[in-house]
Amino acid sequence: MIILDGKQTSNNIKDEIALVVQNRKSKGLKTPHLAAIIVGSDGASMTYVSSKVKSCQKVGFNSTLIDLPDDIAEEQLLDEIEILNKDNDIDGFIVQLPLPKQIDEQKVLMAVNPDKDVDGFHPVNVGKMTLDLPSFLPATPYGILELLERYNVETSGKNVVVIGRSHIVGRPMSILLSQKRKFGNATVTLAHSRTKNLSDITKEADIIVAALGIAEFLTGDMVKEGVTVIDVGITRVKDDTKKRGYRLAGDVEFESVSKKAAYITPVPGGVGPMTIAMLLKNTLQACENRD
Ligand code: NAD
Repeated sequence: MIILDGKQTSNNIKDEIALVVQNRKSKGLKTPHLAAIIVGSDGASMTYVSSKVKSCQKVGFNSTLIDLPDDIAEEQLLDEIEILNKDNDIDGFIVQLPLPKQIDEQKVLMAVNPDKDVDGFHPVNVGKMTLDLPSFLPATPYGILELLERYNVETSGKNVVVIGRSHIVGRPMSILLSQKRKFGNATVTLAHSRTKNLSDITKEADIIVAALGIAEFLTGDMVKEGVTVIDVGITRVKDDTKKRGYRLAGDVEFESVSKKAAYITPVPGGVGPMTIAMLLKNTLQACENRD
């Protein structure tokens, strides 16, 4: 069994990006600049955003964090987005999800200039991705593709089961893996909450991407020998033995599934760090597009 080490791989990607940034700086080209908007003080969102900002510093990007109150009106948030759309120094920006109830998430995603949409959530980018046109790929599925590629995990002709059909992970993952591309060409089944007899389907899978957000859902008896398992889930599970009172659990029961797997991602240290690395890659791309 081989661990798909997202932490190490993401560090390699960050080193590669840092080198490109250094070269840009020495040639007098613009330093990439990523901005992040966070609304409210949700613990998990704050953790994600601060590690995104820290990663910017690591690769030599400029970064701006815009911290807005929980009760902000939708109009005000849209104004902030418009400021970033117009700011010439900002190459790309993200609006950390989820957003508070008074804000329409769709409206917010639509307001982001597609050329600065480094999360790849705007319908223009989703459409381009679906049509195999150059676009910003959503960072989590992009990170999974990159991990499969760097470990040379064959996907062509394989049976892939993606569990979860969210717009940011499961759905785009299923599209990308089924496309005619080097680490694509798979036969993909997209499973979701209404799927019947899921374990009959997962037992046939060569590759499983678990992205449903239920801790340790996929167990050893649901997979076949030699399977590749990508665990996207991050759930905080109460754990009084930890100082912070919780532990992070994936959607995969690592103990039982790893005994049968050929390749598996750990949680933490798998998909999570890859997501951040690909956000940086998209930001660099956005900056290069504007050169
Ligand atoms: P979501 O919460 O928006 O949707 C969950 C999906 O799972 C839905 O499509 C639903 O149909 C499906 N589902 C629910 N119960 C199911 C069941 N019993 N059987 C089959 N399918 C079922 O999903 P999301 O935003 O993609 O997040 C999924 C998980 O991935 C969460 O734990 C989230 O925190 C994590 N996540 C991690 C990263 C990362 O970088 N590692 C990025 C995004 C999300």
